[in-house]
Amino acid sequence: MSGMIFERAHVFYSPNKVLFGPNTVKSVGNEILQLGGRKVLIITDPGIVQANLLQPVKASLEAAGVSHAVYDQVKPEPPVACVEEAVEKFKSEKCDLIVGVGGGSSLDVAKAVSLKLTNDMSVLEMCGVDLVKKRGVPKIFIPTTSGTGSEVTRVSVLIDEKQKVKTVINSLYTLADVAIVDPLLTLSVPPKVTADTGMDAMVHAIEAYVAMSATPFSDILAERAIQWIARYLPMAWAKGSNLEARYYLSLAATMAGMAFASGGLGAVHALAYPVGTGFQLSHGRANAILLPHVMRYNLPGNPERYGVMANLMGRDVEGLSSMEAAELAVEAVQDLLSQIAILYRLRDYGIPREAIPRLVEGGMSYARLFIINPRDLTEQDVRSVYEEAY
Ligand code: NAD
Repeated sequence: MSGMIFERAHVFYSPNKVLFGPNTVKSVGNEILQLGGRKVLIITDPGIVQANLLQPVKASLEAAGVSHAVYDQVKPEPPVACVEEAVEKFKSEKCDLIVGVGGGSSLDVAKAVSLKLTNDMSVLEMCGVDLVKKRGVPKIFIPTTSGTGSEVTRVSVLIDEKQKVKTVINSLYTLADVAIVDPLLTLSVPPKVTADTGMDAMVHAIEAYVAMSATPFSDILAERAIQWIARYLPMAWAKGSNLEARYYLSLAATMAGMAFASGGLGAVHALAYPVGTGFQLSHGRANAILLPHVMRYNLPGNPERYGVMANLMGRDVEGLSSMEAAELAVEAVQDLLSQIAILYRLRDYGIPREAIPRLVEGGMSYARLFIINPRDLTEQDVRSVYEEAY
């Protein structure tokens, strides 16, 4: 892979502006004024309202003289119906700008709402790569989990309820006008959500780092994210109010989002999608379960990079062969999962062995992600990884 990196063009995608740091949420009112907004629709979920996270957003809007309406019915792993409801709210309230506040679910709905308002297409027609014709309504994203990186990525992940599959709007127009990443908003994330979302970010960084489409831009972001997540995720899981841990985890999740927005993802995501949707596990948990098994399968595809990863996760790789060092990366990930109480066997979640053929079919439906995975996968290989994960 290192040879190939000199032979191709590299693209870097990111929002126009990323504001990071404690209390940056207080700037949202001014950012709206700079974008010309007068009345915003806040898109969020009931858990965010309950955690009182809209309070600093509303205070900033009030100080800036910006009025607002709220759509707070986003469901986790959101169905297309949430987008349609929020679009109606935006229109009936005569809003002109969108502020997404929440985890990936709220931000992904906010992205799709922005695009649906300016494109004469159904939400499902927008799903796919670069199918959206027009830029959307201006949008500001404020993440409250350190996980998906949705605030800086160019995808919106939704559930097609009829087909019962995850479907993705992959478009430059999903990128935020402004992302405001305030680690103080993540202090209230419960331990299980901290663990799942933190591992989601780790999977983004690891997959981007070994992807065939990795770039010098994604590499540097992925390396730092891997290092910080390994170090700070157990601390944030153990003590949610640990500001240092939350700070670096927020930074790492945003950087991991930037890394995969440009570098790409791989087989962990492909194999995790049917596990998450088929067995009601969060996106982060499904990714976490598959991670060590897919890593072990992938090792021969790029042992050098997995070796570097082991070192970034604190393992001593001095004097080891590249394959020995690479194996330590799998061990480090398993240790990390154990520290944050994530079991990584399918059977630990009551998934029966008989479900494997269905999972193989589901995993193969995302085979487009295998193209940039560091090792090729046939249908038989996919089955073997699920058997291993069982
Ligand atoms: P989420 O948005 O579904 O939130 C999970 C739960 O945590 C919710 O109940 C929410 O209310 C609660 N929560 C969030 N922040 C909180 C806080 N600060 N305090 C207390 N509770 C809080 O979870 P998520 O993992 O952030 O997002 C998952 C979704 O994102 C999935 O649909 C996944 O497919 C998608 N995703 C999108 C991208 C992207 O680039 N667009 C990338 C990865 C995943």
